[in-house]
Amino acid sequence: MVIIMLGAPGTGKGTVSGMLSDKLNIPQVSTGDIFRKHISEQTELGKLANSYISQGKLVPDDVTINLVKDRLQQDDVQEGVILDGFPRTVKQAEALDNMLNNLNRKVSLTVNLTTPEKELIERVVNRRICPKCKTVYNLILNPPHNENICDNCGNELVKREDDNESTFKGRLNTYIQETSPLVNYYENQEKLFSAVVSQSINKMGKDVTQDVLEYIKKKHIT
Ligand code: ADP
Ligand code: ZN
Repeated sequence: MVIIMLGAPGTGKGTVSGMLSDKLNIPQVSTGDIFRKHISEQTELGKLANSYISQGKLVPDDVTINLVKDRLQQDDVQEGVILDGFPRTVKQAEALDNMLNNLNRKVSLTVNLTTPEKELIERVVNRRICPKCKTVYNLILNPPHNENICDNCGNELVKREDDNESTFKGRLNTYIQETSPLVNYYENQEKLFSAVVSQSINKMGKDVTQDVLEYIKKKHIT
């Protein structure tokens, strides 16, 4: 099973991916997390990625595609994988189709998350993440029990450097221009499942995760 998560920054891709990963027992691969790890380790890739990420731009396609190509060869993802944050351009989506084709696999489902824009910014500036176990918190909607400490592993929480208002606007624009065409790309392949994540309708990541799981079951997606 290959599941793709699509959605603007702050829609909850990471949160839903994490829950789907637990329920379906397949790994979550987040290109954002991989880049952040390289940035914290100050590798060459990290330095390059940071020069784009800090500006709210996408890391170049060739770099990102090669990274995912390598990752998809590894043993742990052969039975299934949740791709959180890849593909993000039509070029990446075409490259993914090729890679999977060569491995005799295909995209099973694309989960497209949408959230009203005014909620997105609130979520992004109040987001805190655990750098160790990757659990995502929100200081207002989903705060940790002890201030700034991960409930799950006890590590100190951090705020992502790109989770500020000005970088967010750039990221949202990048999403609209470069990533949103993928909604049609996967709709045309009849692989799209869209869901709204919004407090205003009392539908949060865990509810959407449930809907996705039911859809997978009903449609016998493998
Ligand atoms: P979000 O969806 O909240 O912006 P991510 O953690 O998915 O967060 O991504 C953070 C940043 O990493 C992006 O703004 C982008 O610069 C870079 N990035 C992640 N995935 C990709 C990708 N597939 N292609 C290019 N850049 C990427
Ligand atoms: Zn943790």
